[in-house]
Amino acid sequence: MAKLAQTAGLTEVQQEILATVRTFVDKEIIPHASALEHEDTYPQDIVDGMKEMGLFGLTIPEEYGGLGESLLTYALVVEQIARGWMSVSGVINTHFIVAYMLMQHGTDEQKQKYLPKMATGEVRGSFSMSEPDLGSDVAAIKTRAVQDGDDFVIDGAKMWLTNGGTSNLTAVLVRTDEGKPKPHQNLTCFLVEKPTGYGEVAPGLTVPGKIAKMGYKGVDTTEMVFKGFRISGEQILGGKRGGGFVQMMDGVEVGRVNVAARACGIAIRAFELAVEYAQQRTTFGKPIAEHQAIAFKLAEMATKVEAAHLMMVNAARLKDSGQRNDVEAGMAKLLASEYCAEVTQEAFRIHGGYGYSKEYEIERLMREAPFLLIGEGTSEIQKTIISRGLLREYKIR
Ligand SMILES: Cc1cc2nc3c(=O)[nH]c(=O)nc-3n(C[C@H](O)[C@H](O)[C@H](O)COP(=O)(O)OP(=O)(O)OC[C@H]3O[C@@H](n4cnc5c(N)ncnc54)[C@H](O)[C@@H]3O)c2cc1C
Repeated sequence: MAKLAQTAGLTEVQQEILATVRTFVDKEIIPHASALEHEDTYPQDIVDGMKEMGLFGLTIPEEYGGLGESLLTYALVVEQIARGWMSVSGVINTHFIVAYMLMQHGTDEQKQKYLPKMATGEVRGSFSMSEPDLGSDVAAIKTRAVQDGDDFVIDGAKMWLTNGGTSNLTAVLVRTDEGKPKPHQNLTCFLVEKPTGYGEVAPGLTVPGKIAKMGYKGVDTTEMVFKGFRISGEQILGGKRGGGFVQMMDGVEVGRVNVAARACGIAIRAFELAVEYAQQRTTFGKPIAEHQAIAFKLAEMATKVEAAHLMMVNAARLKDSGQRNDVEAGMAKLLASEYCAEVTQEAFRIHGGYGYSKEYEIERLMREAPFLLIGEGTSEIQKTIISRGLLREYKIR
């Protein structure tokens, strides 16, 4: 058999990109990941390396200076990067989502202004829906923008911004009262330019320090507080008030394929660590891999890795072919993140007591995997999306 998580039908360009990224991950990420993660240090050298490889512009069209690659290429790159260290994939994910939202919904001026600089990594994107009181229930957003002449004034608090301190362009979803009957029709997405860093970074805009997290360290996750922050109406994504919810959900949909890809990457790495350790560790006179209980664990883990990879690839290919993929992306995200948690847990058990030591990589993976059950919509929210899609498709006449 071939190694796990192979993808049939890739172009030569895709294969080349993946080979380059795999080498980068093996040489530049895996050897440094655990130390950087334990110190909660931002992986600046790794990020610089990704910039050099053009990864910030991977999906941005060539006319704007990017590589113009597909969602599938992006997802497979993310899978490799997360295999090395999930936090590094977090650095490019929100950037990718904001670039996607600009490509799909931005005005020509907005595309011209931001995409070329996003392709080089000079402009780095983050996106913000969540607030202290809400995450799943996006339509309940309280942060408000009120029009004042040609400008808007934003007040409110945002929560959980990945790359909130290291980005300089944030897509922020806020309430603008449009007088529409449904709450989600009254939301607008603003493109907030800001300096990187922490504290009051612009008049009326504060990014307090990094939130201390259980895992997913190195990459910054922050709050963002608006107090009378003034922004031009020209910064509304697509120039269209009231369309923010649909624009953000479109971004989150591709984000879900990306989270599924991250889950695949962590699960692949957990399997690699387990299958190696199981052949080295002996108990009762033989390698533990020769005890059937452990061999069967490996078989189940590998089957889960393979299934998750196939669903993730399917969801990405559907989107690339121009079809709606909300249900498939939800299914891929649900299955891949749940399997990732299970595979990581089994790899941890195979390591016995050493799995609990910070010297072993599996300890880090154990703290990273749970985030994937939450980010870009929890498993319960994925099941809501999937079941709604099923009831639409299988509606009785
Ligand atoms: C490290 C990290 C990084 C993040 N990065 C970002 C980011 O960059 N941008 C951003 O906008 N957000 C970000 N988030 C926020 C993330 O998207 C939310 O945490 C997530 O959507 C869940 O929302 P919540 O935490 O408010 O949980 P809640 O919505 O309060 O949910 C709590 C529990 O109730 C369940 N639940 C809620 N509603 C239902 C329902 N209708 N039916 C059944 N069960 C339900 C949930 O599944 C969950 O188990 C990040 C979060 C973390 C932890």
